[in-house]
Amino acid sequence: MSSVFDDLVGQEHIIDILKGAVAASRADSESQKMTHAWVFTGPPGSGRSSAAVAFAQALICPKQGCGACNECQSAATGGHPDVEVIRTEGLSIKVEEIRELLTRVAWAPSMGGWRVVVMEDADRLTESAANALLKAIEEPGTRTVWLLCAPTLHNVLPTIRSRCRHLQLRTPSIEAVTQVLIRRDNISPTMAEFAARVSQGHIGRAKYFASNESVRSNRKAVMQLPLKLGSLAAAFQAAEILIDLATEEASASSENRDEKEVEKLQEAYGKGATGRGMATGASKAVKELEKEQKARATRMVRDAIDGALLDLATFYRDVMLVQAGAVKSMINSDVRTEIENYASSSPVHSSARKISAIMEARNHLAMNAAPLVTCEALMCELARE
Ligand SMILES: [Zn+2]
Repeated sequence: MSSVFDDLVGQEHIIDILKGAVAASRADSESQKMTHAWVFTGPPGSGRSSAAVAFAQALICPKQGCGACNECQSAATGGHPDVEVIRTEGLSIKVEEIRELLTRVAWAPSMGGWRVVVMEDADRLTESAANALLKAIEEPGTRTVWLLCAPTLHNVLPTIRSRCRHLQLRTPSIEAVTQVLIRRDNISPTMAEFAARVSQGHIGRAKYFASNESVRSNRKAVMQLPLKLGSLAAAFQAAEILIDLATEEASASSENRDEKEVEKLQEAYGKGATGRGMATGASKAVKELEKEQKARATRMVRDAIDGALLDLATFYRDVMLVQAGAVKSMINSDVRTEIENYASSSPVHSSARKISAIMEARNHLAMNAAPLVTCEALMCELARE
C-alpha cells in the first residue's frame, strides 16, 4: 500500500519515528512517542517541509497517511481546515503574523482529531514572533501539533527548540534523487541523473532544473564565468552578468504568479464593480499584495544568486578533482573540456581558496549584504590567480 512517506527520499531513519508517533496519536493512553512540537532540520532541499507535510497528512488521515483520501489530498494542497502550512514570502515572520495565526488555530480541530501547523521557515521568526509562538507551544492540553522547519537547530530560539522533538534530515544521495524524478515526476532517466548531479541532492532544485530549459541555459552561462575573469574590468562585468541571470530567473517564475494573484484578488472584490467603497477596498488590498510580492521578489533574487554561487563553487570543485586525477566524480561533465583546460593552467591550491571565497560571499548575502557589491568583491577575488 502506498503512503505519504514513500517520497521522503533517503530519510528512512525518521520515517519509523513519524509512523510511531502517528500510531501513538490514535491510542487513548498517553505515549512518549507523540508530542505537540517538532523541529525538522536539514540542509536546503533535503525535503524538511515535505517531511513535515507528510507527517501532517498522516496525523489527520483515517488510514494514517494513505496519500489518496480526501483528508490527505486537501492537507497537501492547503484546503484542509485543520492543517495550516505557513510559507514565508518575505525575509522574516513578524509578530503580527504569529498573533493572527494563533487566533486562527485557537479553536478545536473541526474533525475532532488534530490541528496541525507546518511552519516552513521557522528560522525567519523575529524574536518577538518566536516568543509569541513559544506561549502557544507551551500551552498544555491543546490538540494543536506544531511542525517547525529550519536549516539547523541553531536557527531556532533555544527556548523553542528545548520544547520540541528534533528530527534531522539527511541530504539524499544522487541516485535516490534520480529515482524520485523518474518515478514521481516522469522525467527521463538521462535528464533525471544530470539534474540530480548538478543539484547535489537538492530535490526541489533538481526538479526545477529538469523541467526548465531557461534554468539550464542560465547555469551554462554561470559555468562560463570563471573562464572570463582575465582582468578586473572583466570581473566587474561577470558580477553584473551573474546578478542579471539571477534576476531573470527569479522574475520569470514570479511574474506570471504575481499577475494571477492580483487578478484573483480583484475578482474577490468584484472586478469592474462601480461601488465606491468596493473600489477603495480593492485598491488598498492590491497595494498590500504588491508590497508582499515585492518582498518575495527580493527574496527570490537572493535565492537565485545563492543557487548561481553554488553552481560556481562546483566548477572550482571539479577543477580540483581534475588536478587530483579524480575525474570520475565530476559534477559538471557537460563542461568537462572547459574545466580540464582551466585545471591545466591554474595553480593547484587556488581553487580551494576560491571555493572559500564563494562560501563567504554566500554567508554575507544570507546576512543581507548588498548583492551587487558582494558579487563584485567575489569576482575580483576569483580573478586573482
Ligand atoms: Zn489518507
